[in-house]
Amino acid sequence: GKYNYDCDVVVIGSGPGGYTAAFRAADLGLDVVLVERNATLGGVCLNVGCIPSKALLHAAEVIDHAAHAKDMGITFDAPKIELAGLRAYKEKVVGSFTNGLAGMAKQRKVKVMHGSAQFSGANALAINDANGNGQTLSFNHCIIAAGSEAVHLPGFPWDDPRVMDSTGALELADVPKKLLVVGGGIIGLEMATVYQALGSEVTVVELAPQLIPGADADLVRPLAQRLKAQKVAVHLKTKVVEAKAEKKGIRCTFEGDAVPADTLFDRVLVAVGRSANGNKLACEKAGVTVNERGFIAVDNQMRTSASHIFAIGDLVGQPMLAHKATHEGKLAAEVIAGEKKSWVARVIPSVAYTNPEIAWVGVTENEAKEKGLKIGVGKFPWAASGRALSIGRTDGFTKLIFDEDSHRVIGCGIVGPHAGELISEAALAIEMGCEAADLGHTIHPHPTLGETVCMAAEVYEGTITDLY
Ligand code: FAD
Repeated sequence: GKYNYDCDVVVIGSGPGGYTAAFRAADLGLDVVLVERNATLGGVCLNVGCIPSKALLHAAEVIDHAAHAKDMGITFDAPKIELAGLRAYKEKVVGSFTNGLAGMAKQRKVKVMHGSAQFSGANALAINDANGNGQTLSFNHCIIAAGSEAVHLPGFPWDDPRVMDSTGALELADVPKKLLVVGGGIIGLEMATVYQALGSEVTVVELAPQLIPGADADLVRPLAQRLKAQKVAVHLKTKVVEAKAEKKGIRCTFEGDAVPADTLFDRVLVAVGRSANGNKLACEKAGVTVNERGFIAVDNQMRTSASHIFAIGDLVGQPMLAHKATHEGKLAAEVIAGEKKSWVARVIPSVAYTNPEIAWVGVTENEAKEKGLKIGVGKFPWAASGRALSIGRTDGFTKLIFDEDSHRVIGCGIVGPHAGELISEAALAIEMGCEAADLGHTIHPHPTLGETVCMAAEVYEGTITDLY
């Protein structure tokens, strides 16, 4: 034919959105091509995002546990860190996952094409690989899942390897003596946690008056306190106005409420957000509307302005999270296969895998205040949890937010170890329209951190009067 390949469905990008969409479409009997410009599948999440960061955070946790074992009369020597070994661990984790994906694609007969895709018409793509080889492909349906990339703030010497984005920080080239983290959001603080544990002196500057600006202030406080105890210097309402490469380091000029005393850093991590890749695909040739910030608007079936082309994941909007992308990918594939479905998720949980972890889902107290919602709050301090006491972590708490009229749970925030695991119960409760009594009457195993969800509901209902 006219093209090198013809297919039912082509998916552009193999991140969590793209591979989920491709696999689901293939499982539903469609003939699928998955295009990925990188050598490995898995996108940001597997290669340079969620998974490698969690592998390194696990190492940080082990170091932290060893340091705190002295509270139990056990002492270890100071950690000896072999970076090559730590990098190999991270790469093994990532590699087993990306290889697994390649196997899953093969099993389903999803054809993987490596190269960068751009539209050349309403039903056609041009795909060019790194060696300059071009191929063409025609499709009936397309799912755009090309993701996002780190914002490179202007004014930083990006040609100097000591200035890094999250991808650079995850490479772990060395452990800088002094690390500056620009941006106190989830990604910046996760990397700050890793480098602090490995021995860097870490300074964090954040423009907003609070770390992790999307979360309620009370949830962030235990993290801020622990960072302080670990001598991580946090400077709020502060920004970097200039950064210059010098022989001895990156010299930064700050402006704000409490500017850091240090101005020279061995490395600087810029983690100030991510921008959508929608405007790099020549979408106009296919009639797909992209806004000036690279986001592609979709309806509740993930359909773009061109009815046979769908878009999912980071490039359709916030929150830029892997579990949102996978959910959307599944939906787009099912709609293309003819299923009558639309987006039904009420809530999408967020987690910062810091120490302690912070997780929240649904309405926050801040949002409730802004919107004038009539809410009630049930808060259970982990100082009253037997399990939290036994692991030496009483700094956490579990907070449930209820609609005051119906007593239905509409939000939850948890701070403490494993908060990211615990938040799922609250997400389910919100999706199912649970009332406080449903949570309070469900018998939770003792002693677990999970009990604190049940107890927060009981605090709200007034059925716990003294905390135990
Ligand atoms: P992506 O994962 O961005 O994948 C897009 C893919 O498309 C890439 O592989 C890219 O190479 C490819 N591509 C782009 N353009 C083209 C083209 N023209 N042709 C061919 N291929 C193309 N989220 C969480 O939920 N939990 C976490 O713990 C978490 N941690 C993170 C940590 C870090 C350091 C970072 C950076 C992100 C983290 N995220 C996390 C966010 C998460 O990685 C993203 O939300 C998720 O990867 C988005 O998936 P996606 O499918 O939209 O696209």
